Amino acid sequence: MQDTVLLVEDESDVVDLLRYHFKKAGFKVDVMNSGDAGLAAARANRPDAVILDLMLPGMTGIEVCRALKADRETSMIPVLMLTARSEVKDRVKGLEIGADDYVTKPFSPKEVVLRVQGLLRRLRNAADEVNLLEVEDLLIDKAELKASAGGQRLDLTTIEFKLLLSLVNNRGRTLTREALLTNVWGYSNGADTRTVDTHMRRLREKLGDHSVKVETVRGLGYRFNLAPTS
Ligand code: CA
Repeated sequence: MQDTVLLVEDESDVVDLLRYHFKKAGFKVDVMNSGDAGLAAARANRPDAVILDLMLPGMTGIEVCRALKADRETSMIPVLMLTARSEVKDRVKGLEIGADDYVTKPFSPKEVVLRVQGLLRRLRNAADEVNLLEVEDLLIDKAELKASAGGQRLDLTTIEFKLLLSLVNNRGRTLTREALLTNVWGYSNGADTRTVDTHMRRLREKLGDHSVKVETVRGLGYRFNLAPTS
């Protein structure tokens, strides 16, 4: 998928230079020539990143950046500010109000591309971490439906993965078979609770040594136990 960068800059030679290099790097490039238009475009189009010149007609880059970062809808968009060497105070201010990075004019356009790619990578790595659940030596990737135990990848079916996730999400608490049927299969009425036992047995086999964490609670269901802390 192509990333879009919004370039808010009024100097046409800077625009041309950056547009050329970002397109070459595979970006879609939108350009706005004033702060007001840049802010409106960012709000309307939600670009993947914004390159914001400090000195702009209308709203300044500082004002645009502050507005973007104050708005929950746009605050996650990385902002890279372009500043002139003489604008040290403004540069500091830019970072204070939430710009994610800056480059000083005159800059290398390739450097600007690399910085933006770095900002996007950082943002996406952070998003990945949200999908990772780590409990003791179990690592569960909720986005990829993959799990590993002690660094060993577990070869789980989707049902087994969901069983494990449900147990781990409720670690320390007993889940009835009915609750597991609802969580994993999405139904409970009339379903055969032995289905849970069948899949649980396969999950335990695949967990190997780690299966001791999954306890059968007689007459109730199953519980994922954390190692006792000494
Ligand atoms: Ca300018």
